[in-house]
Amino acid sequence: MKFGGTSVQDASAFARVAEIVRNENENSPVVVTSAMSKVTDALLNAFDLAKKGDYEFAFASIEPHFQRHTKVAEELTDNAQQIFFQSELDFAKNELADLLMRVSRRSLPLQMLKDAIVSYGEQLSSRLLAEVLKAKNLNARQMDARRLIVTDEEYGAATPIWSETEKLIQIELQPLIEAGEIPVLGGFIAASRSGETTTLGRGGSDYSAALVGAALRGGEIQIWTDVTGVLTCDPRVCSDARTIKTLSYEQAAELAYFGAKVLHPKTIQPAVDFQIPVRVCNSHQPSEKGTMILPKSDIMPRVIKSIAHKTGITILRITSARMLGAYGFMSAIFQIFERHRTVIDVVTTSEVSVSLTLDNTDAIDAIVKDLTRLGQVKIEPDQAVICVVGEGLRGMPGVAAEIFSTISDVNISLISHGASSVNLTFVIKENEVKNVITKLHNNFFN
Ligand code: ASP
Ligand code: MG
Repeated sequence: MKFGGTSVQDASAFARVAEIVRNENENSPVVVTSAMSKVTDALLNAFDLAKKGDYEFAFASIEPHFQRHTKVAEELTDNAQQIFFQSELDFAKNELADLLMRVSRRSLPLQMLKDAIVSYGEQLSSRLLAEVLKAKNLNARQMDARRLIVTDEEYGAATPIWSETEKLIQIELQPLIEAGEIPVLGGFIAASRSGETTTLGRGGSDYSAALVGAALRGGEIQIWTDVTGVLTCDPRVCSDARTIKTLSYEQAAELAYFGAKVLHPKTIQPAVDFQIPVRVCNSHQPSEKGTMILPKSDIMPRVIKSIAHKTGITILRITSARMLGAYGFMSAIFQIFERHRTVIDVVTTSEVSVSLTLDNTDAIDAIVKDLTRLGQVKIEPDQAVICVVGEGLRGMPGVAAEIFSTISDVNISLISHGASSVNLTFVIKENEVKNVITKLHNNFFN
């Protein structure tokens, strides 16, 4: 059971988590928690401030967040626990003050210090959550995730070493679970073989949960967040949005690009490897079932599961007569993007042109300059990608016709279909998003 930052944002959120865990008590849960909301950002900000030299100011900037932890302990745990937690917190503060000073003096590699600093969010939230669960008569025990998850030394986005991690999790957690204890660990944080603290990248707690769930061959991995599962579309664009009951791993991966609310495909890979279902649920509405992500989802009668979108997209079109019948042309184009470290999202090609979309245009001037050597380049800003996801979309006659006839008044700038059997992607002007999504949603879901 993984709880995200907003699921542990304050005392009432912690209390809700305790009840959610209690409901699963008979199923031998393991709890993974994110830092309290905003704490990771605050720690990263403190690191940046310390880098500029003023480490005392940097340290002071985190104080309000320490107080949030104290307040939760005061509201939800007994006196002895408060004294214990406060001493842990004081200890953490001293270490953080020292680390921030080292940052300002550059006395250790900065990337290493950054991970050490940012890890305190999860170190503290997991200690606090274990105390809260104990206060609610649950048999919880905080475990240091850095002793369970072994990674390489890519600070900030470390990659777990599966065989070692799997063994450690089994050896350390299995006996506790068998004895009826509930292990509570911080997500996101890990350690290298030499014992240095590392982190798994922003949002990495989901990854931790998937690693633990996979290593223990859990019956289900639950991701508790602040929305009720994965929705049929963005509720801010169309208020008819509703929760999707089941998705396949592949569909979830296609949707992941379109919003932070959906799991990153990398983070659920361990679950995919062991075919463990992942459930996304809402800690504010725990009785709702949320979305279940499974190896294969049921084929819905009208096929379509979700309509995702992303705005702020730029199209680049490269046209060149030299491309006809030439080899190496695509490679030459893609190398330019690689050189400028820019991600391409959707690509379509014809005999003499290539169109592609970008959502990060930081390097666009340099890219266009290089591309101009290969052909004529046109830029179309203010576009949006629409991604229609559904099982077996590619093999289902008439679906594309139905999609495009529903929005026949809209100009489509680019279409990509067929690479994956679960999605159809197209690009429209940004100001058409509401119109397009509302029409499609009405047609396919109402
Ligand atoms: N606390 C980390 C972050 O904010 C990890 C997580 O929440 O998953 O990125
Ligand atoms: Mg988070």
